[in-house]
Amino acid sequence: MIITALHWQAVSLRFARPFATSRGRMRDSRSWIVTIETAEGIRGYGEAMPRCEVASGDRLTSAVEDELLAWRRRLVGHPLAIPDLPVPRSPSEAAVSFAIETAVLDALAQHQGVPLAALLGEPRPAVPVNATIGSSEPEDAAREAAQAAAAGFPAVKLKVGDRPLTADVARVAAVREAIGPAVALRLDANGAWRPDEAVAILPALAPYQIDYVEQPVRPGRLAELVWVRKEGGIPIAADESITSPAQLVALLAAEAVDVVVLKPMALGGLRRCVALAQLARTVGVRVVITSSLESGVGTAAALHLAAALPADTPPCGLATTGLLEHDLLTVPLPLDRGVMTLPDRPGLGVQPDARVLARYRVRKDAP
Ligand SMILES: [Mg+2]
Repeated sequence: MIITALHWQAVSLRFARPFATSRGRMRDSRSWIVTIETAEGIRGYGEAMPRCEVASGDRLTSAVEDELLAWRRRLVGHPLAIPDLPVPRSPSEAAVSFAIETAVLDALAQHQGVPLAALLGEPRPAVPVNATIGSSEPEDAAREAAQAAAAGFPAVKLKVGDRPLTADVARVAAVREAIGPAVALRLDANGAWRPDEAVAILPALAPYQIDYVEQPVRPGRLAELVWVRKEGGIPIAADESITSPAQLVALLAAEAVDVVVLKPMALGGLRRCVALAQLARTVGVRVVITSSLESGVGTAAALHLAAALPADTPPCGLATTGLLEHDLLTVPLPLDRGVMTLPDRPGLGVQPDARVLARYRVRKDAP
């Protein structure tokens, strides 16, 4: 099978309503939907959506599109094969690697008539997922959490860290009360607390049976995370701290975390995440796969990755396309009672909707 074309479209993904975390309110994200075509007429899809706090607008666009052009030169006219992915040096490189690998694996899996997950491991058909609740007021958070519990979600993840510590404790108490004792409750501070603040608040949160607290302190300071884990008395997860394989290895070696959140968009690919997940498991660290709040294309890829991991993988953070105005897909990803299932069709199993893409397009397609 020869790759005959590689093209993409930039879109502006809009949140259904602004999504608040301790780092601010998100209204939209710039994303690139990538298509690979083969001589047999197979189309493989992928998505690149770098979360760049340092680059935005035109700078981000040219970084991503330069990368995509380089991949086009490398792949078009050549046989379809899993590409060697460089260790990414930036969020845009990671996101583009993820998009290219997804599109190639999608086309290969369609050709073989198997789900993409079967190229990553021994797939399970269904993946339990958590509901995600932004940094809303206590009553709103409690109401959303109660709805999630009633809808059958096994876990709820609540954004924290954008208000005084006592207010966050009261909010967590309201959410625990709303969901009852059986639903797992996870918190995500997105790096909001100073280490002394984290060590002050975590023991106050312990009575609410917290599954884990994600990124309590800023990324990049390993010793702080180690100290917070030792003093806090609640399981700790790293998310923003993991933007490269080397950082994950350092976290594991320092015994800094109980849980690692792996995002294939940030780490630059699905197969790399499979390897990193295996590494974490060998030292007894739990692995949670999450989306990066991208469209249904990238989220489907993360779902296949989660499905390729062992059955004892905790609920993953993949039920996120509902936060967007539209998932860009012709058919939404299957979600029922807190469980997502792989789409019925081979490959990635999803298709971007051309009319919806046109609605969200931000600029002319690349030449
Ligand atoms: Mg997080």
